[in-house]
Amino acid sequence: MRVSTSNHVPKAHTPFQWARQETAAELDPKHRFLRDACRSAGVEFSWNDPRDSFIEAVLSAATTASVMIGRHGGAARASTRGASTSRADTLGGGVRRGRVDASWFAHREADTREPLPWDHIETGVTKSYLRGQWQDVLSNQTVPDCHHGSCNVCGMQSFDTLRGGEGRRGLRREAGQDD
Ligand code: SF4
Repeated sequence: MRVSTSNHVPKAHTPFQWARQETAAELDPKHRFLRDACRSAGVEFSWNDPRDSFIEAVLSAATTASVMIGRHGGAARASTRGASTSRADTLGGGVRRGRVDASWFAHREADTREPLPWDHIETGVTKSYLRGQWQDVLSNQTVPDCHHGSCNVCGMQSFDTLRGGEGRRGLRREAGQDD
């Protein structure tokens, strides 16, 4: 038997896009604990090096933001006042004396009102729905699976309307895959 774990890397267009990645100092003892527990149970254990996951998180969150910093760096450096929702303020948190603080992108919990690097990509699922799901995560609420229950109104109803059906469930029914 083998147990594998992955470190959290914020994923675009999911409720966990706002979640922080734990630092190597936080993850290392957890990995050691699991490794020792698995070893004593005769189970193989594998994990990702937190330093590799850190690079993934920075690349995921910072690539587009870095471009934005290049374009708006002057404004970002000039303004960190006022509401924390402006692009200048958001990016200003990642800029220190004109240099990018990579850990800022990976290890902080993002404000759900901040613009995100991938906001311009339209998936059909609304950001307000994802915000609600993130709040459910923080308050340990279980969200019913729409595959087996009622629609959670994620935003894809527009797609449902266009199809004149029930979105994914309609597609699955058409394909004879409904359960
Ligand atoms: S049934 Fe469709 S529209 Fe409703 S929550 Fe599920 S995927 Fe979204």
